[in-house]
Amino acid sequence: MIRYFASIFSNSKAIVQGHWITLKYMFKPAVTIHYPDEKLVPFEMYRGALLFDQQTCISCNLCVKACPSNCIQLENAKNETGKKIAKVEWYSIDFGKCNFCRLCEEACPTKPKSVWHSLDYEVIFTKRDEMVRCWKKDFPFIGKYFDRKGQDFKDPEGQIAIHDVRPRRS
Ligand code: SF4
Ligand code: SF4
Repeated sequence: MIRYFASIFSNSKAIVQGHWITLKYMFKPAVTIHYPDEKLVPFEMYRGALLFDQQTCISCNLCVKACPSNCIQLENAKNETGKKIAKVEWYSIDFGKCNFCRLCEEACPTKPKSVWHSLDYEVIFTKRDEMVRCWKKDFPFIGKYFDRKGQDFKDPEGQIAIHDVRPRRS
């Protein structure tokens, strides 16, 4: 009989404690947001999707050598005589291999950085082709992907545009 009443007491206590915790949080400000209608801006050093600037890149290959995942490729631009110059013809990063380690950004000697992490965290790939981001002359920092079916470069579909929130590092 004592155990019966002890059990009723402990269960009632647990229910009251549970309701008390719920009541306390009901009057505190919410810490969650209504994603995806609302979006948080990540902290300053967040390593989001990589961006690239073909204008400032000097085609030094240091990012290629620094990358532990072997996911960066580039080709030097050439002058009229066919000699390589300190510019890139094209640059690509395979996001399927990238581990977002920032070593490419750290190795880049240009000021500001020619390859750098944005704050973009919504990097969604709906096609295999989209995983390889390419940059060529006049492509935006966000790059494009080569659609093998359509044989053309296309804009990435699943990426939000908060990459300009943080100033580019020098
Ligand atoms: S973030 Fe790391 S893995 Fe990704 S491209 Fe840069 S160096 Fe390579
Ligand atoms: S992105 Fe930076 S490190 Fe990579 S080739 Fe261009 S200048 Fe060199």
